Amino acid sequence: MKLIHEGKVKKVFQDTQSKNQVVIEFTDDVTAGNGKKKGTISGKGVLSCDLSEFFLKYLAKKGIQTHFIRRLESTQMRCKKVEILPLEVVVRNVAAGSFCKRYGIKKGTKLSSPLVEFFLKEDSLHDPLITEEAAIRLELALESDMAFMKAIALSVNHYLAELFSQVNLTLVDFKLEFGKTEDGAILLADEISGDTIRVWNKKGESYDKDLFREGEGDIAKAYAFLLKKLNTTKPENVTKRDEMMYVSVMPKDGIKNPPGEVTKKALIRLGLSEASEVRMGKIFEIHLSQPITSDILKQLTLMNLKLLSNPIAEKHRVRMEM
Ligand code: UDP
Repeated sequence: MKLIHEGKVKKVFQDTQSKNQVVIEFTDDVTAGNGKKKGTISGKGVLSCDLSEFFLKYLAKKGIQTHFIRRLESTQMRCKKVEILPLEVVVRNVAAGSFCKRYGIKKGTKLSSPLVEFFLKEDSLHDPLITEEAAIRLELALESDMAFMKAIALSVNHYLAELFSQVNLTLVDFKLEFGKTEDGAILLADEISGDTIRVWNKKGESYDKDLFREGEGDIAKAYAFLLKKLNTTKPENVTKRDEMMYVSVMPKDGIKNPPGEVTKKALIRLGLSEASEVRMGKIFEIHLSQPITSDILKQLTLMNLKLLSNPIAEKHRVRMEM
């Protein structure tokens, strides 16, 4: 097989049978601090592959589309070939790592609700934090890709956090990467393992790569412990997340909007003399029976929301958040 990409701890090979598939191989290498600290830990490759297989299969069962196809030998998995978007998507439940340094927050501070952050994948710049607007303006991803990634990241957080809580572990934070297939579908890709998540027990002890970052423990033992614990969980008992999306329908520019005109007059009468134009539209809140997929997003856009709006006089926008 031809090596097509070599990362810090993984190798990606072009599959010989299908041009749309790759084989991802986990090595025993471990790095931290953008490759400044390096090591090799016997058995880590198999454990990272085991954990990734576990998480990606579990998330697929919950309706999240991933690049995972099947496990091959001990350190390899067959995946759909994707072009990885140059963004890392981090979800945080509890303050740790770079978040604490950036804002001077005490490690372990619980966030009032999960936070999604984007980082630019660029080693030479040390993967800086990037705003959604900057990522869109720099054309690193489409507005719909950003909304999609955020929605899936929150969904993954729900499903992983509940699973860990079954075994008294806290999901502190984790990092995801997404990729696009040749036909433009966006999928959850890369790995989810002890290298890319932070998990603590009730005493705040880590079972993840922080043990290597801080040079305090045996990560192979910690990853094996995680796997053992996960294998005792009951995925069927995890509650379903209420997945929602919003479609706003607005009159197109230049189209008369009588309800807006009536409202404008009322606003002026009430004292808001600055109201120069008011346009009234509608918002549909759509609850989905499963996490958003590329197909669902495409269907809504392609249908041009025939049922929801009049495409000649109205324009629509699909959003994952209000
Ligand atoms: N993370 C990762 N790869 C990276 C950076 C972060 O997998 O290149 C993971 C990390 O393991 C943690 C989460 O993303 O679970 C948040 O990491 P943070 O931003 O706190 O950065 P760090 O402290 O790792 O520098």
